[in-house]
Amino acid sequence: MNRPHIVWLRRDLRLADQPALFAAAETGPVIPVYVLDDARAGEHRLGGASRWWLHHSLDALGRALAERGSALVLRRGDSVEELCRLVEETGAVGVHALRHYEPWWREAEVQLAQRVELQLHDGNYLMPPGSVRTGGGQTYRIYTPFGRALRRELPEQAPLPVPALSAPDTWPRSDRLEEWNLLPTKPDWSAGFAADWVPGEAAAHEQLARFVDHADLYHEERNLPSIEGSSRLSPRLQWGELSPAQIWHTLDGQAGEGADTFRSELVWRDFAQNIILTFPEYQTQNYRQAFERFPWRHDEGEIRAWQEGRTGYPIVDAGMRQLWQSGWLHNRVRMIVASFLIKHLLIDWRVGERWFWDTLVDADCGNNSVNWQWVSGTGVDTQLFTRVMAPLTQSDKFDAGDYIRRWVPELAKVPDRLVHDPPEGTYLPKIVGHREGRERALAAYRSLRDDQAS
Ligand SMILES: Cc1cc2nc3c(=O)[nH]c(=O)nc-3n(C[C@H](O)[C@H](O)[C@H](O)COP(=O)(O)OP(=O)(O)OC[C@H]3O[C@@H](n4cnc5c(N)ncnc54)[C@H](O)[C@@H]3O)c2cc1C
Repeated sequence: MNRPHIVWLRRDLRLADQPALFAAAETGPVIPVYVLDDARAGEHRLGGASRWWLHHSLDALGRALAERGSALVLRRGDSVEELCRLVEETGAVGVHALRHYEPWWREAEVQLAQRVELQLHDGNYLMPPGSVRTGGGQTYRIYTPFGRALRRELPEQAPLPVPALSAPDTWPRSDRLEEWNLLPTKPDWSAGFAADWVPGEAAAHEQLARFVDHADLYHEERNLPSIEGSSRLSPRLQWGELSPAQIWHTLDGQAGEGADTFRSELVWRDFAQNIILTFPEYQTQNYRQAFERFPWRHDEGEIRAWQEGRTGYPIVDAGMRQLWQSGWLHNRVRMIVASFLIKHLLIDWRVGERWFWDTLVDADCGNNSVNWQWVSGTGVDTQLFTRVMAPLTQSDKFDAGDYIRRWVPELAKVPDRLVHDPPEGTYLPKIVGHREGRERALAAYRSLRDDQAS
C-alpha cells in the first residue's frame, strides 16, 4: 500500500506555488484537507466577510482538485485533533503544511508536531518571517531598513508549478461545504460582495493579469479612491489564492516607479508578519505601554454611526459603506476612517480593529493590527504624537468626489466643489466638528506626553 500524505490547508488555498502540496505530491498520494476550527483563534475567529470568502474559495479549490482527479476533504473541530484522527483513519505517513504566523496557528503547529510527523514549508511570504534580521540579530521595528534588507536577501526563485496529484486508495469522510453555513442568510448582506468578487485561484490569476497591465501607473493612482488604481489583490494574498512570489515573479522585468512602489507595498505585508511573530499579542495590546493610560472614550452611538457610515463626513461615510457593502476598502480611505475613529472620536483602535476583522474579506492578523497601531501611534515605526488627519482636506486632495457619489447615494448629484463638505442642512450633521475633534485629540495625546515627562 502506498501510504498517503495529508496536506493541511489554511490561508493557502491554491494549487500552484504551493510548496506543501508540491512536496507531498512528490512522495505519493495526497489528501488535501481544510479544517474549520473556530475555537483556536478565540475572539479572532473568522469574521463574517472572511467566512463568505472562505466558502467560495473552498468551493473553487474543491472543483479544481476534482478536475485533477483529487478532492478536498472538509472537517470541522479542533485542527490538531481532526488532523490526528485523519492520520489514523487513512494510515497517512504525516502532514505537510505551510507555516502560518497567527499565534493560534503557531501553537497548533507545535502541538501537532508532538503527535504526528509534520513537515512545515514556507511559501506565503516573500521571505520566511523571522529570517530578515538586523545586524544584531533583532527583529526590525522600522519598515524602511527592513525593506532594504529583504530586497537584498530575496533569492531569485521561480514559482512552483501545479503538481500531478495521485489519489489515495480510499478517501476519508468529508463534510459538505453547505453544512458549514459560512454564507449569511438572515439577512443576506453579501449581494455587493458577489458583484465585486469571484474568489478562487483562477479568478485571482485573471485579476493579477489585469493589474500588471496598469502597474506602471500604480504610484500615481494608488491613492485615488475614485479610480481604485491599486491591485485589489489583498484578499487573494490573505487567502493564499496567489503567493507573493508569483506576484513578484509576474512583475519581474517591470522597471519604473509604478512596479517598484507596488513591490514596496508587498514588503509591508512581510514586515507586518515579522511584527506579529515577535509580538504575538500585537492584535490586542498596545505595543507602546504608555497608551495603557490613554483617555479613550467609549460611546456606543458614535461607534455605530462610524460603522454604518453616518458620521456626517462624506469621505468617512463612503468608506464605511463601501466596507459594509463590498467587504473591502481602499488603503487611503482605510487610513482616513481609522484616523477619524481614533483621533476625532478618541475611540480605542481595538474597536476599529475588531470591526475591520469582521467586515473585511482580506482581514489579516498582521496587516490589520500593524496598520491600526500605526494610525493610532501605539505601535512600532510610528510617532507617538502624531498629526491628526483632516478628512475633508484628504477627500479633496485625493479627488474622492466620484468615490463619494458612488457610495453615498444621497450625494450622487452634488458637484465636486461641494461634495467633500456639503453645506449645512444638505447632508447628515457632523458628529464632531473637525476643529473640536482635532483639539480634543491633541490634548489627549499631549496628556500622555506630559505624563511621561513627569
Ligand atoms: C487601518 C488599516 C487596516 C488594514 N487592514 C488590513 C487587513 O486586514 N488586511 C490587509 O491585507 N491589509 C490591510 N491594510 C493594508 C492595506 O490597506 C491593504 O492591504 C490594501 O488596501 C489592499 O488593497 P490592494 O490589494 O489594492 O493593495 P495594493 O496597494 O495593490 O498593495 C498590494 C498588496 O500589498 C500589501 N499591502 C499594501 N499596503 C499594505 C499595508 N499598509 N500594510 C500591509 N500590507 C500592505 C497587501 O497585501 C496588498 O494586497 C490595512 C490598512 C489600514 C490603514
